[in-house]
Amino acid sequence: MSTMTEIFGSMVFDDKVMEARLPKETYKAMQKTMKDGLPLVDLEVANVVANAMKDWAIEKGATHFTHWFQPMTGVTAEKHDSFISPKDDGKIIMEFSGKELVKGEPDASSFPSGGLRATFEARGYTTWDPSSYAFIKDKSLCIPTAFCSYTGEALDKKTPLLRSMEYINKEALRVLKLFGNEDVTSVKTTVGPEQEYFLVPKELYDQRKDLIYTGRTLFGAKAPKGQELDDHYFGSIKPRVAAYMNDLNEELWKLGILAKTEHNEVAPAQHELAPIYTTTNIATDHNQLTMELMQKVAKKHDLVCLLHEKPFAGVNGSGKHNNWSLSTNTGVNLLEPGETPYENAQFLLFLCAVIKGVDEYQDLLRIAVASAGNDHRLGANEAPPAVVSIFLGDELYGILQAIKEGKSYNSTEKEPMKIGVDILPHFFRDTTDRNRTSPFAFTGNKFEFRMVGSTMSISGPNFVLNSVFGKELKEFADELEGAEDFEEALHDLIVKTIKDHERILFNGNGYEDAWIEEAEKRGLLNLKTTPDCLPYFISEKNISLFEETGVLTRTEVESRYEITLESYCKVIGIEAATMLDMAKKDILPAVTAYSKELADTAIAKKSFISGCECSYEEDIVSKISSLTSKLYSAVQALDADMEKAADMSDVTELSVYYKDIIIPAMDAVRAPADELETLTAKKYWPFPTYGDLLFGVR
Ligand code: ADP
Ligand code: MG
Repeated sequence: MSTMTEIFGSMVFDDKVMEARLPKETYKAMQKTMKDGLPLVDLEVANVVANAMKDWAIEKGATHFTHWFQPMTGVTAEKHDSFISPKDDGKIIMEFSGKELVKGEPDASSFPSGGLRATFEARGYTTWDPSSYAFIKDKSLCIPTAFCSYTGEALDKKTPLLRSMEYINKEALRVLKLFGNEDVTSVKTTVGPEQEYFLVPKELYDQRKDLIYTGRTLFGAKAPKGQELDDHYFGSIKPRVAAYMNDLNEELWKLGILAKTEHNEVAPAQHELAPIYTTTNIATDHNQLTMELMQKVAKKHDLVCLLHEKPFAGVNGSGKHNNWSLSTNTGVNLLEPGETPYENAQFLLFLCAVIKGVDEYQDLLRIAVASAGNDHRLGANEAPPAVVSIFLGDELYGILQAIKEGKSYNSTEKEPMKIGVDILPHFFRDTTDRNRTSPFAFTGNKFEFRMVGSTMSISGPNFVLNSVFGKELKEFADELEGAEDFEEALHDLIVKTIKDHERILFNGNGYEDAWIEEAEKRGLLNLKTTPDCLPYFISEKNISLFEETGVLTRTEVESRYEITLESYCKVIGIEAATMLDMAKKDILPAVTAYSKELADTAIAKKSFISGCECSYEEDIVSKISSLTSKLYSAVQALDADMEKAADMSDVTELSVYYKDIIIPAMDAVRAPADELETLTAKKYWPFPTYGDLLFGVR
């Protein structure tokens, strides 16, 4: 086996490869483009780069190239073209031009566009994103691209992310100038997404239509054992899982993805992978690739990787902890408390931008993670809750309180702390305890946004964070740039921000009922479901945020609103249809057959032994019979409710109907079915149980 250093990045057309393979001038031009995050316009440079990329890719065994992009479906899309071009003499040459590198024209009509399609032709085009490296996957040279309509509307997840990075860069630089950071020329947001997932044996997965069609179990009685002993979390990794993880790591390393830590999670069969953080748009590309490879590598090990937010009822679901920060090209993490009074004042101002932003845009943060799958986590009794709040830890919280009240933080000091003059007490870095229930937690030098669902692209959450905090930094810069006395104004601004927005700070247990009540008193939003929160997306407040930051136009917001609700309805529609299919074709026939066997047995026994009691058979038959009737009427009700849904065309109305009518009707089907499972002989039950699935990988 080759060493990790040989493997790492071996399939990536990265800086090292470019330096070695490009003429000096081209390399310099590329570096500049990448640094500025701008599209490459010089076709001559593009031609040289394309040629070098092609040679490199062919040496590595690639035969095709593709513009790799992230449409609104949430998964990545590819359209492969061969490098091969016919020549006049009947021979072929391998070709790849600058034009093909820079721009592609996939057919946009089959991707969701949420009403945008009405206003533009079905065509769209992809443009190379030179800030993310090209790479080889399955013998194809993949070129990371953004995907737009011909009229310029973003049809993908990447375009708004790039726009938001540009915006926050600009505004953060303005703030940094005020603190005298003349050497800083760019600020980039960084992300390390921790990815949770489940592994189940493939032969069991194949027997469950719900897993195949919907990615989650729609039926299933609790196994005798769940996660109550907490013996899986950080427990030793089973050899079969370890082999999978090693294999996966190697595949990820080839693509330059630094998968670093892997451990078991709380639920049985649940695991987590964390990469080392990087710039947001690269982290987003990498996370998409990670999810894809997790599933692909699992198949090789006769396993299936479940990325759904809630594959099993009754045990923890899966999320994606989005560790977010921002740092300068000079290597300073702006959310890390510094060494000098000035650095600390700067840290406090960035911290205040986060506090103000999360408070003012609670709704957007919730919307950024809204999906049918994630509603099972956020709206249910599971961490994190749907109420958005910030965890700072007691010490940082104490410091903010002292600043607000003009007191000294440390009782041994008499003077109140003065921003820009005094140094922050030097401790909270290591004492931020790990509050696992907070949706947005400060962890010493970054914020961990824990509401993101495990299947989601992290692009949405991150362009929202960048837009919101960028906008707050802009407001701060506007105010401070005009100040007569900078330090005084800074002090006042920080005090005012803490006073106005401290309601969003909460250090306690985020999923206790007491907090939900308290949050309500504080006037915080509790948007439990996707249909509850989505209408806030198209509020004037939020549309103007996106317009001001240039991240999305009004039309783009409206189209995303539609796409999100459409997908919510489709997901639940598929789940309901799958449920009906399983109940009618599998569960009802199975329980009927089993009760027939019991009834036949009772009759046989009675004819054989006079006065035979047969209490077991009779009892079970009667229980099964009454549950079967319950199940059958629930199935009929769901069928009828689904028929009504077919007549509704307004997506907002439909989403509310799915939430209020279909989901409860599905619950009503599941309850008797799960109870029937506990009464039915194993050999009659038509699919593997929770116990089989959760403890099947040994
Ligand atoms: P843990 O949460 O287990 O203590 P770490 O704090 O080291 O682990 O990191 C968790 C995740 O946060 C990792 O993916 C890590 O790369 C990422 N991370 C660390 N620092 C930053 C940062 N400045 N910006 C974004 N992500 C970061
Ligand atoms: Mg973490």
